[in-house]
Amino acid sequence: MSEVSGQRARVVIVGAGFGGFEAVRALSKADVEITLVDRTNHHLFQPLLYQVATAGMSAPAISAPIRHALRREMQRGNLTILQAEVIGFDVAARRVLLDAGQALDYDHLIVAAGATHSYFGHTDWAAHAPGLKTLADAFAIRARVIGAFEQAERCTDAAQREPWMTFVVIGAGPTGVEMAGTMAEIAHHTLPQEFRRIDSTQARIVLLEGSARVLGSFVPALSQRALEQLERLGVDVRTGCKVTGIDAAGVTYETPGSVGAEAGINGAMQRHHLPSRCVIWAAGVEASALGQALAVQTGATLDRAGRIIVQADLSLPGHTEIAVIGDLAAATSAPKNPGADAPTAVPGVSPAAKQMGRTAAANLLRLLRGEPTLAFRYIDYGNLATVGRKAAVVDLSVPGFGPLRFSGYFAWLFWLFAHIYFLIGFRNRLVVMLDWAWAYWTYERSARVVAQPATALRPASPPA
Ligand SMILES: Cc1cc2nc3c(=O)[nH]c(=O)nc-3n(C[C@H](O)[C@H](O)[C@H](O)COP(=O)(O)OP(=O)(O)OC[C@H]3O[C@@H](n4cnc5c(N)ncnc54)[C@H](O)[C@@H]3O)c2cc1C
Repeated sequence: MSEVSGQRARVVIVGAGFGGFEAVRALSKADVEITLVDRTNHHLFQPLLYQVATAGMSAPAISAPIRHALRREMQRGNLTILQAEVIGFDVAARRVLLDAGQALDYDHLIVAAGATHSYFGHTDWAAHAPGLKTLADAFAIRARVIGAFEQAERCTDAAQREPWMTFVVIGAGPTGVEMAGTMAEIAHHTLPQEFRRIDSTQARIVLLEGSARVLGSFVPALSQRALEQLERLGVDVRTGCKVTGIDAAGVTYETPGSVGAEAGINGAMQRHHLPSRCVIWAAGVEASALGQALAVQTGATLDRAGRIIVQADLSLPGHTEIAVIGDLAAATSAPKNPGADAPTAVPGVSPAAKQMGRTAAANLLRLLRGEPTLAFRYIDYGNLATVGRKAAVVDLSVPGFGPLRFSGYFAWLFWLFAHIYFLIGFRNRLVVMLDWAWAYWTYERSARVVAQPATALRPASPPA
C-alpha cells in the first residue's frame, strides 16, 4: 500500500525499452498500480537493428508488441500500457504530461526514455546521413542502401555512378563496424549475380572514424583484430578522420596533415571530400530530451551527452520518488570494496539498463516499506561486437578467472548465440536462428523488399 492512504502506490514508468521493461517485470508482482507509457507500440531489441537496416531480418524478428511481450504481467491486473508521447513533467504536482493534453498522476516515477542520435550541433547532416536507433531508422537506411545499388544500375555514365557505389559509414563503434562489415558482405556476396550493368563487388564501403582505432571501447588488441577482419571483408577503414561536412554530394573530413596542405583550414589539417550518395551516421548519441525537461523541473544536473546525473541509488537529488535509468542516466556503480575503490561510470549498454530497471524497482519497494534504498552496482559480464560473417570480437569478464578475450569464428558463434538467447520471445529466437542459418549457407538476405517507389528513394541531388 502506498503513502496515499488505503490506495495502491501509483507508479508511472516512461519507456518500454530494456530499462523500463525490466522495471515493469520486477514490480508487476508487487501491490502497486503501474502505468507504462511508450511512444511506440513495440519493444525493440536494438543490438540487432543493423540486421533490419541491412535487409538480413524483418522487423518482427527483433521486436514485439509491448502488450504481447507483457501479457503475463497484464494478467496480474495492476498494469496499464499506454501508447503516448511524454512531453514533460510537473514534478511539484507529481504529474507526467502526455501529448493531446493528457496527464498521469504518480506517487513514484521511473524514467527510461533512452537516447537518440547526436550530430554534434550539425542538425542539417541528419537529412543526408540517417542514424540507426528505431525501426523507422532501419527501414530508411535499408531503402537507401538497396536504392543506391538500383540508382547505380540506372547510370550510364561511370562518373555519375561512382557516388552511388560509394557507401560511407561514419563512426567505428559497434554499430558502425556491424553496418560496414555487413554492407561489404552484401556488395561482395549477396548482389553480384543480380545486376547487369554494375559489378556490385566494385562498391566501396568506407568506414570513417575520428579516433585512432575502431571499437574504441575494446582493448587495443581486439580493436586490431576487428580492423583486420573489416579489411578482409573489403572495408576501407580510415581512422583519425574528423568529419566537417555532410551534404547530398558526400562527406568532407579532415586529417592531420602537413602545414599548408590542400585547402588547409588552419594550416595543420588536410581536407578531403568523399563523393557518396549513401552515408550512414553511427558516430554520436545524446540522451532523450526528457532529461532536459526533468532537469529543469528538479534542478538535477546534465552531463555533456544530456544524461541526468543520478544519485548512487538512481534517484534524483531531493526527489527519492523519481528514478532515472538506462541510457538517460549518468550513473555510477558502487564499488565492491567501498573503502578501497571509487565508484565507476556505468556504460550505455542493454545489460546496464536492465540491471538499473531491477534496482530502481527494488528501491521503490524498499521506500514503500520504509526501508533505506541501496546503491546501484553494475555487474559487467563483458563486451561483444560482430564485424560480419564469421568475424567478431569478445571480451568477457569471468568471475574468479579474469578477462577472456577472443576473436574470429568462435567469437562470432558466441556473439550469435548470446544475441539469440537475449531476443524477445521464443518465436523470434527460432525465426532468427533459421534466418541466420539460411543466410550462412546462401549469403541471401531475406528482407530486401523495399516498399517505396524509385522516385521516393532517390535522395536530393547534390548542389551543382
Ligand atoms: C543500433 C544499436 C545497437 C546497439 N547494440 C548494442 C549491443 O550490441 N549490446 C548492448 O548491450 N547494447 C547495445 N545498444 C545499446 C542498448 O540498446 C541501449 O543501451 C539500451 O537500449 C538502453 O535501454 P533504455 O531502456 O535506456 O532505452 P531504450 O531501450 O532506447 O528504450 C527507450 C524507450 O523509451 C521510449 N521513449 C523515448 N522517448 C519517449 C517519449 N518522449 N515518450 C514516450 N516514450 C518514449 C522509446 O520509444 C523506447 O521504447 C545498441 C543501441 C543501438 C541504437
